[in-house]
Amino acid sequence: MSTEPVGTLVLDPIRCDGRGMCHDAAPGLIELDEWGYPLLPSGTLRAPIERSDMKAARDATHACPLLALHIER
Ligand code: SF4
Repeated sequence: MSTEPVGTLVLDPIRCDGRGMCHDAAPGLIELDEWGYPLLPSGTLRAPIERSDMKAARDATHACPLLALHIER
């Protein structure tokens, strides 16, 4: 099975207020730092998404009330 990324999960740190609902929706994909702000798997503001993680990435994106996460194709 290919591990080629099918998209990129992007975090906007200006919008994010660190309530962690993205982590609650996709705990296997998004961790929280010690202040409750999300950590993407890449450790940066942009993370490649493999096909197997796409549902979790969508769940996290849809859970964010501040539209601080989006998926680029
Ligand atoms: S749900 Fe949105 S606002 Fe809340 S921590 Fe996650 S990215 Fe930030």
